[in-house]
Amino acid sequence: MEVKTSLLDNMIGVGDMVLIEPLSEDTFIENLKKRFDHNEIYTYIGSVVISMNPYKSLPIYTAEKVEEYRNRNFYELSPHILNIFSFKQDNDQCILITGESGAGKTEASKFVMSYVAAVCGKGQEVNKVKEQLLQSNPVLEAFGNAKTVKNDNSSRFGKYMDIEFDFKGDPLGGVISNYLLEKSRVVKQPRGERNFHIFYQLLSGASDDTLQKLKLDRDFSKYNYLSLDSATVNGLDDAASFRTVRNAMQIVGFMEDEVQSILELVAAVLKLGNIEFKPESRCNGYDENLKEMCELLGIEQSVLERAFSFRTVEAKMEKVSTTLNVAQAYYARDALAKNLYSRLFSWLVNRINESIKAQTKTRKKVMGVLDIYGFEIFEDNSFEQFIINYCNEKLQQIFIELTLREEQEEYVREDIEWTNIEYFNNAIICDLIENNKNGILAMLDEECLRPGTVTDETFLDKLNTMCAEHQHFESRQSKNSKFLTDHSLPHNCFRIQHYAGKVLYRAEGFVDKNNDLLYRDLSQAMYKANHSLIKILFPEGNPAKVNLKRPPTAGFQFRASVGTLMKNLLTKNPNYIRCIKPNDKKAAHIFTDSLVCHQVRYLGLLENVRVRRAGYAFRQAYDPCLERYKMLCKQTWPHWKGPAREGVEVLLTDLQVPAEEFAYGRTKIFIRNPRTLFFLEEKRSQ
Ligand code: ATP
Ligand code: MG
Repeated sequence: MEVKTSLLDNMIGVGDMVLIEPLSEDTFIENLKKRFDHNEIYTYIGSVVISMNPYKSLPIYTAEKVEEYRNRNFYELSPHILNIFSFKQDNDQCILITGESGAGKTEASKFVMSYVAAVCGKGQEVNKVKEQLLQSNPVLEAFGNAKTVKNDNSSRFGKYMDIEFDFKGDPLGGVISNYLLEKSRVVKQPRGERNFHIFYQLLSGASDDTLQKLKLDRDFSKYNYLSLDSATVNGLDDAASFRTVRNAMQIVGFMEDEVQSILELVAAVLKLGNIEFKPESRCNGYDENLKEMCELLGIEQSVLERAFSFRTVEAKMEKVSTTLNVAQAYYARDALAKNLYSRLFSWLVNRINESIKAQTKTRKKVMGVLDIYGFEIFEDNSFEQFIINYCNEKLQQIFIELTLREEQEEYVREDIEWTNIEYFNNAIICDLIENNKNGILAMLDEECLRPGTVTDETFLDKLNTMCAEHQHFESRQSKNSKFLTDHSLPHNCFRIQHYAGKVLYRAEGFVDKNNDLLYRDLSQAMYKANHSLIKILFPEGNPAKVNLKRPPTAGFQFRASVGTLMKNLLTKNPNYIRCIKPNDKKAAHIFTDSLVCHQVRYLGLLENVRVRRAGYAFRQAYDPCLERYKMLCKQTWPHWKGPAREGVEVLLTDLQVPAEEFAYGRTKIFIRNPRTLFFLEEKRSQ
């Protein structure tokens, strides 16, 4: 019987880049393009999966496909994201999905999760767990995703989900960790972008009755926090999504009164954005929005009015009250809105975790799926982009360390000699950002904690002095060579050479966003609210628990949580999905060479292939290898009685393949040159 070897089918390009001959950037890109044109969006580099965003739905995730992949040898089917599981082992796994904004990470993570749900156990309990795990997605996306210029459904938070399995391979439950939500979006969106989906979904999809209860108007234009220039997005049906989200919340296990509370908070944020302050009386007692917001959250209006008018600073035993000017009142309002929303988001994640956590302790194995916000370069880059890009640097770092390490370890395990390959190692960029002593985050923290006048300019001065000074003395390969100073930089900016490109950051807002301060008067006002959810969200407002210690800065917290994540990932066996964006028009059928080339370069994909090929391009366990090629030799056909390894030896000797082309590992055969594999494949099809 003829078995199609899609890995080597020339019509649709080569399925595994390791087999490409000759290997160059051009042949690499050409191969991706050929495959993309044939709707073959997945290509391997050994066990790494490259995924091209098709920007259209393909019939490749159906139940039949899943069955097919589940039952067949991966070598016989075209590359697929589902194959990430054909390397199934008994130890803990993680799937690291990387790529820039809009490349398809979130979609990939959802396919992975649906696949897990499709292939593992059945039964009422298991089905419930699976359904809850899957339905956590629409909820988190509604609150944590937004339309940006790069992606209509851009993740504005990082997400890592551990799915736990029992010894039978049935899912027991999961745990989600979230990373820094881009909360500045709540009060202001860049041109052409939207606020988080939930605001639009609620206004479009809720019943008249619900809206009335929430004192909301359907008209987006009534709300200052909702930008107008792109309120509706082609292809997004906010009203339908609202129903999906409501349904998902129910499945995940939210009670009706919880949902109500959540929506009240969302409504309160919109109201908050409409509150106005005037010089003569900071807070206008007749402000409808203020009144309605207080009603929604069960807050006494005079308390909030006071909190928007004065700021109390407590030092030792003293309390000093100062009056807020109009600008400060607006600042306080926006800070409250951002805090309300981002705390609501973290609460949602915790609440979902409560529902989906494993009920028993018999866990056998864990699979983690990481889907973060992709690397991004906008015209205007601020603290948020800095944090997002830092996170991507860390992931690239893990990729570098682990692909090299894993490769090296495999050779050692299999008793085969190892050759080193040069890589661009981005560790220096990570160090530039996170070094405890003189990294950018540490300098920012130092500046934020320093007494005296601290501004974004003093922070920038410090950066420039520190980094530029060192630059003189250190070699080009130092981390400071990644901090680019030149006199053509616009005022108030600094530039970093990230692994994925140069990014110009505007220092404005760094100090403030890192400080992330909420006046205590406001947290106390929130704590006093007669609203079950609000109270939980502002525990520091409890007057009995006044803590004079400063809360850790946003940067510090983020660095710590990313550190924990990295440690966690290092204990697992990594699988990679490297997502690539074919064009920046969000369009199907367009393949922009230069754009793809840039991504291939910074993702280090060519080096990845070279590492795979440095020693041996191809490897396969003895059993499947013998099974596939035994027909080429009389002695092994139709049945080989001895150990598979010996069968493979007999086979290769019989075919007179030169000895230097092979190495016999403990469990696998290693093939040095792709041509040898082609030779075997040709023989098979003769
Ligand atoms: P971000 O970093 O901004 O969150 P992302 O990498 O998560 O970006 P996605 O949201 O997964 O990007 O993908 C962007 C859009 O591209 C999707 O909304 C969808 O329209 C399309 N897309 C991505 N992957 C696929 C796929 N495999 N099949 C069909 N469409 C896809
Ligand atoms: Mg995403």
